[in-house]
Amino acid sequence: MKFKFCPECGERLITKPIGDEGDVPFCERCGRPWFDMFSSAVIVLVVNEYGEVALLQQDYMSTEHRVLVSGYVKPGESAEETARREVAEEIGIELTDSRLVGTYWFEKKGMMMIGFIAHADNAELTLSGEVDSAEWVAAEDAIKLVHPKGSVSYALLDEYFKRSVSERFIEEVRSIKWFKNSSVPTEKYLLVRSVYDAFDNWNADYLKVWEPHACLLEKMAEKMIGDDAVDSIFETVSMALDGDIWREWQAFRARAGLEEESSLDEESVDMVKRDLCWAAVEKALNITGFFTELLDIYRDGYFPCGWEGEFPDGRAAVL
Ligand SMILES: [Zn+2]
Repeated sequence: MKFKFCPECGERLITKPIGDEGDVPFCERCGRPWFDMFSSAVIVLVVNEYGEVALLQQDYMSTEHRVLVSGYVKPGESAEETARREVAEEIGIELTDSRLVGTYWFEKKGMMMIGFIAHADNAELTLSGEVDSAEWVAAEDAIKLVHPKGSVSYALLDEYFKRSVSERFIEEVRSIKWFKNSSVPTEKYLLVRSVYDAFDNWNADYLKVWEPHACLLEKMAEKMIGDDAVDSIFETVSMALDGDIWREWQAFRARAGLEEESSLDEESVDMVKRDLCWAAVEKALNITGFFTELLDIYRDGYFPCGWEGEFPDGRAAVL
């Protein structure tokens, strides 16, 4: 917005050269410049732990394309606060983190768009009156549904895909509440009562299922992305998640009264990291197999430590 009259006193503005700014509209009566004004808005790519993004249908914005959460920055707010508020208002979820990706000038509306990639737990979306519908969509599909290349939505998704598979995997699984349901009775899995029980009675059988999958995946990965890429995934993923998993594992043991079983900590945490690394490799190969299934069990808050029957039939034994 360009000012012709002074918003304070109504005087017609003159133009006056001010330093490096050049000619600027100026009120002689108030003795102050009135720089061109524009609004700022945030736009947020919300990603859940499954690598799905929240896409909105907002007919007043577009009937042809889906959009991301967006909204104006209010005076006094930081852009990060706006992002959190808008996501909560429009789709009813809490962000766990947000990362500023860049700022984009939106010519059509003459405004500054501040772009974030943010994370939230996969939860049902509760819509505000401004949103006609919204759903979680796989990122690979989302990029085909938003406004095409040149739009801010597209730029954010493009940026999302620019990160390596390991980085994206780590960002996604970080919000998993590790072992949160461990030792909570469930119909879905066979519950194992102690870490000793898991290792003594399940480990051998589990490896019979686990090993062929790991071998096959390793061979496929060798061919498709090469050994170095696999090594790099293992290194990056286990290093990034090590601290979280240790902490949550020990918290679980304390909660479950399994304090005596600390001698198996290292092996247990290594098993978790190993499973996650293989799940990241499946992601890199763009396949969903045994380890993606294990990842789902971790997402459910359990620790898969055995398998009853044949995969994919039968069910996991979990702590
Ligand atoms: Zn004035």
